[in-house]
Amino acid sequence: MAEIARRWQDNVAGRFYVDKECILCTLCHEIAPDNFRESEQADHDVVYKQPTNDQELSQCIEAMDSCPVEAIGDDGA
Ligand code: SF4
Repeated sequence: MAEIARRWQDNVAGRFYVDKECILCTLCHEIAPDNFRESEQADHDVVYKQPTNDQELSQCIEAMDSCPVEAIGDDGA
Protein backbone atom coordinates (compact mmCIF):
# COMPACT_ATOMS: atom_id res chain seq x y z
CA MET A 1 0.00 0.00 0.00
CA ALA A 2 1.34 3.44 -0.95
CA GLU A 3 2.35 5.78 1.85
CA ILE A 4 1.73 9.50 1.58
CA ALA A 5 4.83 10.21 3.68
CA ARG A 6 6.89 8.55 0.92
CA ARG A 7 5.19 10.45 -1.91
CA TRP A 8 7.51 11.84 -4.61
CA GLN A 9 7.51 15.62 -4.32
CA ASP A 10 7.13 16.10 -8.06
CA ASN A 11 3.61 14.64 -8.11
CA VAL A 12 1.03 17.31 -8.80
CA ALA A 13 -0.98 18.21 -5.69
CA GLY A 14 -4.17 16.28 -5.08
CA ARG A 15 -5.81 12.93 -4.60
CA PHE A 16 -3.56 10.46 -6.47
CA TYR A 17 0.21 10.19 -6.05
CA VAL A 18 3.16 7.87 -6.67
CA ASP A 19 5.41 6.94 -3.77
CA LYS A 20 9.07 5.90 -3.63
CA GLU A 21 8.32 2.20 -4.17
CA CYS A 22 7.87 2.92 -7.89
CA ILE A 23 10.09 0.73 -10.08
CA LEU A 24 9.27 2.58 -13.32
CA CYS A 25 7.52 -0.37 -14.93
CA THR A 26 5.53 2.15 -17.09
CA LEU A 27 2.19 0.39 -16.57
CA CYS A 28 0.41 3.37 -14.98
CA HIS A 29 1.22 5.79 -17.78
CA GLU A 30 0.16 3.19 -20.35
CA ILE A 31 -3.19 2.74 -18.56
CA ALA A 32 -3.75 6.40 -17.65
CA PRO A 33 -1.63 8.51 -20.04
CA ASP A 34 -3.57 11.69 -19.30
CA ASN A 35 -2.57 11.54 -15.64
CA PHE A 36 0.72 9.63 -15.21
CA ARG A 37 4.07 10.11 -16.91
CA GLU A 38 7.76 9.52 -16.32
CA SER A 39 9.44 12.05 -14.03
CA GLU A 40 12.00 14.51 -15.35
CA GLN A 41 14.66 12.54 -13.46
CA ALA A 42 13.51 9.48 -15.45
CA ASP A 43 13.70 7.21 -12.42
CA HIS A 44 10.05 7.05 -11.37
CA ASP A 45 6.56 7.91 -12.60
CA VAL A 46 4.45 10.74 -11.22
CA VAL A 47 0.92 12.01 -11.36
CA TYR A 48 1.20 15.12 -13.54
CA LYS A 49 -2.54 15.86 -13.67
CA GLN A 50 -5.33 14.77 -11.36
CA PRO A 51 -8.37 13.18 -13.07
CA THR A 52 -10.94 15.69 -14.25
CA ASN A 53 -13.59 13.37 -15.69
CA ASP A 54 -15.04 9.91 -15.07
CA GLN A 55 -12.89 8.24 -17.72
CA GLU A 56 -9.66 9.61 -16.25
CA LEU A 57 -10.82 8.68 -12.76
CA SER A 58 -11.51 5.08 -13.73
CA GLN A 59 -8.14 4.89 -15.53
CA CYS A 60 -6.35 6.22 -12.43
CA ILE A 61 -8.10 3.64 -10.25
CA GLU A 62 -7.20 0.89 -12.73
CA ALA A 63 -3.58 2.09 -12.74
CA MET A 64 -3.53 2.06 -8.94
CA ASP A 65 -4.98 -1.45 -8.82
CA SER A 66 -2.52 -2.65 -11.49
CA CYS A 67 0.71 -1.26 -10.02
CA PRO A 68 2.86 -4.32 -9.25
CA VAL A 69 4.48 -2.73 -6.18
CA GLU A 70 1.43 -0.79 -4.88
CA ALA A 71 3.22 2.52 -5.30
CA ILE A 72 0.12 4.50 -6.28
CA GLY A 73 -1.90 6.09 -3.52
CA ASP A 74 -5.34 7.66 -3.30
CA ASP A 75 -5.80 9.91 -0.30
CA GLY A 76 -9.43 10.45 -1.26
CA ALA A 77 -9.13 14.24 -1.22
S1 SF4 B 1 2.63 1.14 -12.23
FE1 SF4 B 1 3.60 1.50 -10.22
S2 SF4 B 1 5.71 0.76 -10.43
FE2 SF4 B 1 4.85 0.95 -12.47
S3 SF4 B 1 5.54 2.99 -13.15
FE3 SF4 B 1 3.47 3.22 -12.25
S4 SF4 B 1 3.79 3.72 -10.08
FE4 SF4 B 1 5.72 2.92 -10.91
